[in-house]
Amino acid sequence: MCTVMDRELYKRTTPITVMEVSTSHGVCVWTVPLCILCGGVRLTGGSVLYCTLYCSHILAGLIIHRLWCGDSSTPSSTSPLIHFLFLHVQWTFHPSPKRIPCPNMASSKNLTRFWEWGRKIICVGRNYTEHAKELKNAVPTEPVLFLKTPSAYVREGAPILMPYYTDNLHHEVELGVVIGRGGKDINQSSAMDHVEGYALCLDMTARDVQDQCKQKGLPWTLAKAFDTSCPISDLISKDTIKDPHNVNIWLKVNDVLRQEGSTSSMIFSIPFLISYISRVITLEEGDLILTGTPKGVAAVQENDEMVAGIDDIISMRFQIKKQS
Ligand code: MG
Repeated sequence: MCTVMDRELYKRTTPITVMEVSTSHGVCVWTVPLCILCGGVRLTGGSVLYCTLYCSHILAGLIIHRLWCGDSSTPSSTSPLIHFLFLHVQWTFHPSPKRIPCPNMASSKNLTRFWEWGRKIICVGRNYTEHAKELKNAVPTEPVLFLKTPSAYVREGAPILMPYYTDNLHHEVELGVVIGRGGKDINQSSAMDHVEGYALCLDMTARDVQDQCKQKGLPWTLAKAFDTSCPISDLISKDTIKDPHNVNIWLKVNDVLRQEGSTSSMIFSIPFLISYISRVITLEEGDLILTGTPKGVAAVQENDEMVAGIDDIISMRFQIKKQS
């Protein structure tokens, strides 16, 4: 992958190299391996591409020199040394460009607290047939995606705040997938290698607002992405949930069971979703994917107590409060 560092070095050095080589004498047959050696020592990541570009410009400079100057003299014994020293000085003394982290670079971030720094919450709508039907939506033939912002995260101990503009706040219990290794255009066959673990999540939804948005053809942001709209549990390791397509997720409101469904009923599997999403949005370490909710979504009121869980693996409790 060509990094920003590579591009900056490429821009910085190319004019100088062409000029310098164009005014030299003859073909320096061992300049190319010297450049590769020097570049390999000086650079990490992308050095092969960088050196290839560098060497191609050296050769271009030599061709220009021969065509324009008509110089066919035997290479001087000092020319290669001049080339090497020039390149070495350039690589040694120019300031190192700032390195921009790539999505798949190793990171020291603490994934067990991904909600503190993760950048994206990507949600899948209508991924369970019975839920699509209960809201009178067509069963989708490809994933329905929308986003929440990181400020939607809320943890046990803090309340879910019902926005002032809704009278119909719904719960949607969902299995969340936490991305441990980022990527773009991820294949389904390797998709699970990008998963760090799972989380129990609620996709709190201002249903009346969402209905209005759907009628007007407007985005769902007010209905789905408000602060505290994404309550989450601790990170659950992949070892704890061996088969994420065969667990039961459930939710009770004031001790009454409202939702219960198996993740085996998902329309689109987790590898498919990761592959599909990553073709559109680069996945990064700490991102969260909400995989949809089973049937049984319904309204909650102020002071209601919700308890949700994944089998008996994990549970979490939240109370509803009105936004002041
Ligand atoms: Mg949902």
